[in-house]
Amino acid sequence: MSLPQIALTIAGFDPSSGAGATADLQVFRTHGLYGISCLTALTVQSTRGVRRVEPIDAGLLAEMLDFLAEDLPPHGVKIGMLATASICRVVADFIARLRAENPIPVIIDPVLRSSSGHALLDPEGIEILRNRLFPQAICITPNRQELAVLLDRPVIDRPVIDGEELEAAAAALLHQTGVGSVLVTGGDAAKPDDLLVQSGVPALWLRGRHIETTSTHGTGCAFSSALLSGLVSGSALPEAARAAKHYVQQALISAPRLGSGRGPLDLAPPLQRPR
Ligand code: PLP
Repeated sequence: MSLPQIALTIAGFDPSSGAGATADLQVFRTHGLYGISCLTALTVQSTRGVRRVEPIDAGLLAEMLDFLAEDLPPHGVKIGMLATASICRVVADFIARLRAENPIPVIIDPVLRSSSGHALLDPEGIEILRNRLFPQAICITPNRQELAVLLDRPVIDRPVIDGEELEAAAAALLHQTGVGSVLVTGGDAAKPDDLLVQSGVPALWLRGRHIETTSTHGTGCAFSSALLSGLVSGSALPEAARAAKHYVQQALISAPRLGSGRGPLDLAPPLQRPR
């Protein structure tokens, strides 16, 4: 039997498992990968929102990452919530060491704020994310608001940009930061279309359909982990993006109605057991 590919998530801990590392691990497993994880922060959180964030000691994280990767070298890395500038530095150094040996795919979900409005990365961290982490990533997956913050363009009153204006904004971030590609997610937009912008290739729109549900907690985490899973399994970026979008749509459609806030998705549909 061939060994499974290994996917590493570097992300926060959401006790409700809707978002963060424990959600990512479910996504990896569902895609046939062996998932490993290093936590950047603990959160006090439920489907009702984030109440408190307690970052992990950066030195401890550095040790966890190195010791883990020596034994279980990952075939791809997904980076989610990073919480602080010092954690961003540790992760940037780790990824540089890892990729110097083997240029594995790295996907970054630039988690800046929870949907409930709690900051999940400090302002200095945003700079390190842009300058040191983006250049090492094959793809980043901001939503429209995150894209505006990363471009240092305040989100003004008008509805967030779309169409050609969005294509230009994604291209600007691509050229400013040297990231491999920018995939702007649209799950939270009026028209839930995603946009993939790569250098030297026409922009690709992935049309979505609106799914009426309050179970949307961790949608961004699920999408970026599914995207990484596709790449680790050998798909090209556009194909992996299409498959990730389809997976998230299905997970929204069959989401269980759990919790009294924004519930989790159905990330790991149960095994179909023979009767
Ligand atoms: N908590 C953790 C640990 C996360 O990683 C994230 C998102 O990536 C969130 C909360 C935010 O999830 P949501 O945007 O669904 O509130």
